[in-house]
Amino acid sequence: MTQKSTSDATESERIVNRARNVIPGGAQTGLRAQAYGTGEIAFERAKDATLTTVDGDEYTDYHLGFGPIILGHAYDSVDDAARRAIDGGVLYGAGTAPLEVEVAERLVEQLPSVEQVNFCNSGSEATYHAIRLARAATGNEKILKFEGCYHGWHDYVDVSVYPPEDGLGEQYPESEGMLSSAVENTLVVPFNDSKAVEDVFRDHGDDLAGVILEPVPHSVGCILPRREFLQTLRELTEEADVPLIFDEVISGFRHSPNGAQGEFGVKPDLTCVAKALGNGYPVAAVGGREELLSQAGGDNKSGVVISGTYSGNLPGLAAARETIDTIVEEDVQSYVTDLGDDYRAGLRDLLADRGVPGRVVGHRSIFSIQFGVTGEPESYEDILGLDEEKFREFAGGMRERGHFFTPNPYKRHHLSFAHGEEHLECYLDDADDVLANL
Ligand code: PMP
Repeated sequence: MTQKSTSDATESERIVNRARNVIPGGAQTGLRAQAYGTGEIAFERAKDATLTTVDGDEYTDYHLGFGPIILGHAYDSVDDAARRAIDGGVLYGAGTAPLEVEVAERLVEQLPSVEQVNFCNSGSEATYHAIRLARAATGNEKILKFEGCYHGWHDYVDVSVYPPEDGLGEQYPESEGMLSSAVENTLVVPFNDSKAVEDVFRDHGDDLAGVILEPVPHSVGCILPRREFLQTLRELTEEADVPLIFDEVISGFRHSPNGAQGEFGVKPDLTCVAKALGNGYPVAAVGGREELLSQAGGDNKSGVVISGTYSGNLPGLAAARETIDTIVEEDVQSYVTDLGDDYRAGLRDLLADRGVPGRVVGHRSIFSIQFGVTGEPESYEDILGLDEEKFREFAGGMRERGHFFTPNPYKRHHLSFAHGEEHLECYLDDADDVLANL
């Protein structure tokens, strides 16, 4: 590869090259570094649906920071609320604050199964706390999760998210350096497979501490749950007195303020929310039945310890309060769902017209184009075999034309309240052009 001389390099390339000296891989996470697969890129501004690079290049953003941005970047009323909170001091770290109560009350009101709430700062923290609560309540250690579901980076759950084909049906650790006993205690079966779950309850029912799932697995694009699968999970966990944990980090407040639990009518025992809850601010929560949450109501000398210096920080909570209120008052979900339907229908037509093998999957404001595979995916195995190279080419072509999304073929496009007809038209026109040349 010919190295550009410094003077030929774009500002993005210069920044990324500097980053590579001081930040492993030149980006904060491996998934973020994947953006360089279609060219080095460094952003310095985001407003509404537009991302702007350090070179002044503008992109329509379909990545939306992996999904939190539901209202659009730098949404004025959310940022104003956060600024007002900053003016009052960002962190008190003792007792409670009115904002904590106000946001907790909103979560209890919106999420059908939630009676009490603990705040934290990320989805990973929320799933960690949920599992600790479940283990404490049952006295058991084993957790059941599903292939293709991501619940964060910690050792309890970073198992069999993207296993290779020969790793299916096994407990596949996603990272080196993980605690083997954590991996061993994380059982894994295919999503939507009620029979496999029944087998686990038969063989390990007495050792299970919890069952955790993304009710709509989006870590691999989109898999829709069969209703009877969710009901089976509810019945089996209830019979065995094992907490059912819905990881609604993506689905909560992006698909509906009532979460997937509201949409599919199945009430879990514990719920994790993050991402769209704060329109990009670091705010997350674990909520659930009082009986489970109250285990954390002690003084750290007994019961379950839930801790975190920055948990319940005020700018995050102010952003969450304003985001929830806006979503509910403006009926944001109806808007982004209709728009999502238009993108999906348009893309399906384009694939058919151009004779490109592939499918468009998605739900409400989320969609993914998966090349080389057809039919509706029901489990992670149905996603294996998609044409990764073709997706990267598509992402590269779209990026050249001003549309940004990660070239990772397993990820997804997100829409926000700031996206509209003009973005749709432009996207479909350019997608047609790129598909014609793939
Ligand atoms: N659960 C789900 C479903 C997620 O999508 C993510 C993040 N992609 C997490 C948990 C972890 O959240 P965080 O990155 O905020 O730790």
